[in-house]
Amino acid sequence: MKHFIVGPVEMYPCTKDVYKNEMVYFRTPEFSNIVFDSIDKLSKLIGNTEPNSLIYLTASGTAAMEAVVENSVFENDKVLVINGGTFGKRFCELMKYHNKNYDSIELPWGKALTKDILYQYDNMNYTMLFVNLHETSVGQLYDIQLISEFCKKNNMLLVVDAISTFLADDYDMNKFDIDCTIVSSQKGLCLSAGLSFVSVSKRMKEKILNCIKPSSSYFDLKDYFNNIKRGQTPYTPAVAIMYELRAILNYIESCGGKKAWLDYIASKAQYFRKKACEYGYQIPSYPLSNMLTPLYFEDINAGELVAELKDRFQIYVNPCGGELADKLIRISHIGNTNIEDIDNLFEKMNSIIVELKNKELCI
Ligand SMILES: *Cc1c(COP(=O)(O)O)cnc(C)c1O
Repeated sequence: MKHFIVGPVEMYPCTKDVYKNEMVYFRTPEFSNIVFDSIDKLSKLIGNTEPNSLIYLTASGTAAMEAVVENSVFENDKVLVINGGTFGKRFCELMKYHNKNYDSIELPWGKALTKDILYQYDNMNYTMLFVNLHETSVGQLYDIQLISEFCKKNNMLLVVDAISTFLADDYDMNKFDIDCTIVSSQKGLCLSAGLSFVSVSKRMKEKILNCIKPSSSYFDLKDYFNNIKRGQTPYTPAVAIMYELRAILNYIESCGGKKAWLDYIASKAQYFRKKACEYGYQIPSYPLSNMLTPLYFEDINAGELVAELKDRFQIYVNPCGGELADKLIRISHIGNTNIEDIDNLFEKMNSIIVELKNKELCI
C-alpha cells in the first residue's frame, strides 16, 4: 500500500508510535516545554519571529479557517477572497455563513491568477485579502510576491491558508509580509490529522485580541493566545499529535533544515514531472506547487484510473471533484515516498491507462 495523496500522507517512521513512552497529562511544565520548543521551531519554519504568535487548535484545517474568519473580520472590514477552486470556495462560504462583507475573484479552472486580474480590484477600499496560496483542488500555486505587493499597496491584511504549500514551497511570513498563516498537521508536516496552527503578525494579533465576542466560544482565539504564553491551550489538545510534531520537527532539522527539506520535496516533484512528460501525460500550464502534480486526461476516465489504482494495487492518489472528476487526478510529493515508489506508480498507472484506452476504443 502506498499513499500519494495530499493528506494524510505516508508518515515517516520517526513520527509513528511516538506516544508509547510519553506522559498523557498535559497540564505540566514538562508538556509546556515541549509546546514552547515545538512552537519555536515551527514559527521559524513559517518565518514568523514575533513571540507568542502561534497557536494550535485540536481541529482540522477548515476549523482554523473558520476561526480566523470569525475572529478577525469585523463589521467595518471589506474582504477580498481569491476563489480558484474548492478551498477558495470554502473561504467564500465561511464569509457568507458568518455574514461578512466580501467579494471574490472567481478564477475558472485552468486560468492563472495574473497581475491584470488582481489589479482590477486595486484602490477599492478592501481591508483584508484571504487566499489559499496553493489551491489544492486543482494544484495552482498563486504568486505570493504579486499578492503581497498588492496588499501592501492597498494597506490590506494578508491572510494565507498555507495548508498545502507550507513545507513544499518557499513560504516565509516575514519575507512576504503575511499577517496570518493557517497550516494543519496532515499535509506538509506529514502527521496524523487533527491539529491546525494559526500564526499571526503583530497587527493581526492585536486585531484578534480586540474581537469582542466571536460566534464560537470554543474557537475564541483570545483564549488560545492567552494560554500559549504559558505553553498551554484552553482545552485538552491532541496530545499525541504534539509528540508527533516534536518528532517531525527534529527530523527535518536532522535532514539539514528547511532549505534541504524543500529541495528534497522539489526533487521528487521534478522527477515525477519529467517522467510524466516522457509518458506523454498532460500537466496543466498554470503555476504549480511542489506539493502535488495534477495530470489531465482527455481520452480516459480519470476517476476510473484512481479507482483501479486503489483496488488493484492499493496505491492511493487524489481524484478531483465536480466537473473535473473525469479529467484530472492529483499526485502528492510529500510524505515518506521515494523515487522507487514513483517509478512503481508510473508502471502501474500506465498499465491501467493502456487498458482503459483499449476499452474506450472497443465501445
Ligand atoms: C487540506 C486543506 C484544507 C483543510 O481541510 P481539512 O479537511 O479541514 O483538514 C484547507 N485548505 C487547503 C488549501 C487544504 O489543502
